[in-house]
Amino acid sequence: MVTLTRAAACFFLVLTLMLSGCSFEQHSPIDGKEASNQSQSGSSATAGNQEQAAPPFSNEGPATDHSAGGSGEDLGQTESGKLPTTGSGDAAPSDNLGGSGNESPGAPPPDEPAAPPTDATWVAVGDVMMHMPQLPAYYNDKTKQYDFSPYFDAVRPLIREGDWSLANLETPIAGQSLGYSGFPRFNAPTELAEALREAGFSIVTNANNHSLDRGAEGISRTLAALEAQQLVTKGTNRSRFEAEKLTIVEKKGIRMGLLAYTYGTNGIALPAAMPYAVDIVDEQKMLGDIAKLKEAGADFITVALHFGTEYQTVPSEAQKKLARKLVAAGADIIAGAHPHVVQPYETVEVTEVDGTIRNGLIIYSMGNFISNQRGGTKDYGLLMKVGIRKDNVTGQTTIRDVEPIPTWVYRYKVGKLNHYRIVPLDETIAKRTIPELSSAEYAALTRGKQTIDQRLASMSAAPVTVPAAP
Ligand SMILES: [Zn+2]
Repeated sequence: MVTLTRAAACFFLVLTLMLSGCSFEQHSPIDGKEASNQSQSGSSATAGNQEQAAPPFSNEGPATDHSAGGSGEDLGQTESGKLPTTGSGDAAPSDNLGGSGNESPGAPPPDEPAAPPTDATWVAVGDVMMHMPQLPAYYNDKTKQYDFSPYFDAVRPLIREGDWSLANLETPIAGQSLGYSGFPRFNAPTELAEALREAGFSIVTNANNHSLDRGAEGISRTLAALEAQQLVTKGTNRSRFEAEKLTIVEKKGIRMGLLAYTYGTNGIALPAAMPYAVDIVDEQKMLGDIAKLKEAGADFITVALHFGTEYQTVPSEAQKKLARKLVAAGADIIAGAHPHVVQPYETVEVTEVDGTIRNGLIIYSMGNFISNQRGGTKDYGLLMKVGIRKDNVTGQTTIRDVEPIPTWVYRYKVGKLNHYRIVPLDETIAKRTIPELSSAEYAALTRGKQTIDQRLASMSAAPVTVPAAP
């Protein structure tokens, strides 16, 4: 009877999680500790946030004190279910008043100090690509498995600094049975998911022009491989429910809303029966999605955008217009990728309707994080590190301490096989951490650094000011 009851309870729990879209445990890549979050997100998204009436952002002064630190447990990610307002009949009932357990009842006694703010770190990189020359050296004949983790050896500590660490996966990882391939229709080993998780990524967006390289099956298999590594995904969908559910990833009690879109899919049509398979850039839909996340209590919103023109080192007018519009409408960080080269970033000051100023960040393109592409700065990338501070008195969350960290893909041969290592550019040059590089190669790398630095500085000196969207 006990067994039966437990089985029934498990079944009910699984069913509820499926319905609510809250699906899996978060394996913290930072400390290896498992922190499960079983909160039922459709309801906790609203019930767990009591401060929705307050403006979600403020323009606080340039605080420099990092000592406040993170106040607590990594609460893990929560994928929130549909809002009741979406009118779906399959959302979980709103009976979870437990929230995420990080709220204290009532106001503190007057003689106690105010709750300190919570600081967290947001990290993102650009395109994770897998060209065919990247494979052979990483195949283990004994295990019959690939292990791509050495790619990330030199940047792993930086990725692991992120409470949220995002990468754009620019290839299906649909398994060997579909055959591995590079450009123009990619398919890479599923082991890449394991390497990404092990490197410290917790979120992989995959709305990009290669999303449909292996069709709907490719999407399905790719999502399964990523989910098997407890990676949060955004940008492709196996069902309409999945396409419409809100994704909120909570770390240290700060709730990040996440969206991901691509300008297109290289002319491959969306499956007729699955028009929702890839999140495509559609301004009205995007504005609606941002509004839904705000309504669901997201403390800040990241939009991963696959847009721009390949190999262009400055953003197009269309990129600027779209990105600024999204920030004006409530997005806080635009994480751009696709041009395969680093483009500048800019900060945005949004004057909200009530007169307060909210800071946004637009990173137009983070270039290639890992690829076989060389020349024309295609072997350089950008790891962007941003401080996120939540004021635990006002509930407001702000972006601070934007730190661009250029990276470079060191490619070398052992025998006939290509090896790859992503390295932090500045440190590599300053400390000459790659003994195999010649003085001439270091001189070339230094010129590359100057080019990237100039590019990054070209639009970030002063903020762009925009009024809030009506
Ligand atoms: Zn692309």
